Amino acid sequence: MEKVYRYFAIFLIILSAQGCSLKQEREVIYQTSVIGALMQGVYDGEVSIAELKQQGDLGLGTFNALDGEMVVVDGRVFQVKYDGSVVEAADSMKTPFAVVTFFDADQTLELVDVPDMNQLKVSIDQTLPTPNILYAVRIDGDFEYVKTRSVPRQSPPYPALTDVVKDQSIFEFHDVQGTIVGFRSPQYIKGINVPAYHLHFITDDRGAGGHLLECKVKRADVMLDITPGLFLNIPQDRAFYEVPLGDDLQHQLERVEK
Ligand code: ZN
Repeated sequence: MEKVYRYFAIFLIILSAQGCSLKQEREVIYQTSVIGALMQGVYDGEVSIAELKQQGDLGLGTFNALDGEMVVVDGRVFQVKYDGSVVEAADSMKTPFAVVTFFDADQTLELVDVPDMNQLKVSIDQTLPTPNILYAVRIDGDFEYVKTRSVPRQSPPYPALTDVVKDQSIFEFHDVQGTIVGFRSPQYIKGINVPAYHLHFITDDRGAGGHLLECKVKRADVMLDITPGLFLNIPQDRAFYEVPLGDDLQHQLERVEK
């Protein structure tokens, strides 16, 4: 059958401070596809890196064929490959899942000597006005330790993400400077995105990074962008149409993220 699918988008306002429409695009998180589809092997999308850059300058995701981890920082899109190398992604590359926003820090926090990622999350959570909205997060810091991962490029028929991560590569860094980027989402986001924190890391020299698994902070500037809107781009292709999205994949998601 010929491919007659196109992309379109629905506009989903999660919260607006004044209960009205979004004031400007900078206050919106843009996301393409949903985590439930990625979890189940929908690894190809139609959104190009050029298009993604028009939607934000900070964020995370992956690339078609699940070819590594995406880190978006300062308007540049980096690909952390399975072998640990990092390249700047070509505008023509495409993504099956990505989340970006134009980052403007609404509140900042300086942290010193944070022993692990759990405590980092707790420390940030204590400063939030509410857990019920979406935040973009940027953390510039000196780290005593950082642990990340990347995933191997896949070939169709695509396996589930829980199977792919069994072969993930792990990277460990000691005494490293870098930037953590990502999002903190409410629990009600599950199915669409990762509840609570989803963070990726890249070193200051932009030479290494990945999906953040653990870190120990010496000193860090934590910046939070309160983003009261979410724009969800829903794919219109056969793989997305046919993937079953009714099940609660929370247990599998925890295995994939940690
Ligand atoms: Zn990730």
